[in-house]
Amino acid sequence: MTLLSIILWSTLVAFLIAQVSTFCTTIYLHRANTHEGLKLHPFIGFLMHLELALATGIKPREWAAVHRKHHRFSDQEGDPHSPYIEGLWRVLFLNVVMYKRETQKQETIDTFTPNWKDDLIDRVPLIGDLGPTIGMLLLAVSFPLIFGLSWWAGGLLGIATWFLNAGMYIFLNAMINSICHKVGYRNFEGQKATNLQWVALITAGEGLHNNHHEFPRSATMKARKWEIDPAWPVIRCLTMLGLAEYSESTLARVDFDKLRKAA
Ligand SMILES: [Zn+2]
Ligand SMILES: [Zn+2]
Repeated sequence: MTLLSIILWSTLVAFLIAQVSTFCTTIYLHRANTHEGLKLHPFIGFLMHLELALATGIKPREWAAVHRKHHRFSDQEGDPHSPYIEGLWRVLFLNVVMYKRETQKQETIDTFTPNWKDDLIDRVPLIGDLGPTIGMLLLAVSFPLIFGLSWWAGGLLGIATWFLNAGMYIFLNAMINSICHKVGYRNFEGQKATNLQWVALITAGEGLHNNHHEFPRSATMKARKWEIDPAWPVIRCLTMLGLAEYSESTLARVDFDKLRKAA
């Protein structure tokens, strides 16, 4: 294998893992756990939590608390990561620092997730550090076997691929919190958050952020027929298989009658 093809494969693997994590984030962490707009079968929840623990090290309770605070103070004083307060570029490149800073505040965790129930994975001691380490080791062991490299070279490449995946995942999340509050179109003018379809395509629908802020409990992020939320067909499939449940009444939609009257 040439060096170039190894780098390309490593980038592709990192991108695929970051994409799986993004789907798990929006379906499990965001729509189901944080906003409770979706109920997942415990086994699906377990698998998605496991994936996130290995690929990102995120703790669901911390994520939910910081994100609920973001909705409560959206783009006002108190928002943990508003581009209107911190500046667009700062949130785009330092979103992870702002997130970490907020997770250190016990008051945020207690206020925004008062009745949180830990699951099996949450109860594993040091899971925040242990998960990513196991994830890295899995890649470090599988890369030499898959690509026919020495243990040293393949192992190091596997670890580098894990970090590349983490960087991609962090950046995708930062795009939602920064540019999807400033750049793009709005179906709902009452929200500062914006929709960007191309961001939605690489963030499992999260880029339809204006719709989400208007309908936080919606299981889908799309409000218009032509908008594409890549996680929505996955949720529909899980629902058809009896592995997920959502309420039709909370689904996002544009009120066309109201729009006509306003025109
Ligand atoms: Zn937002
Ligand atoms: Zn949300």
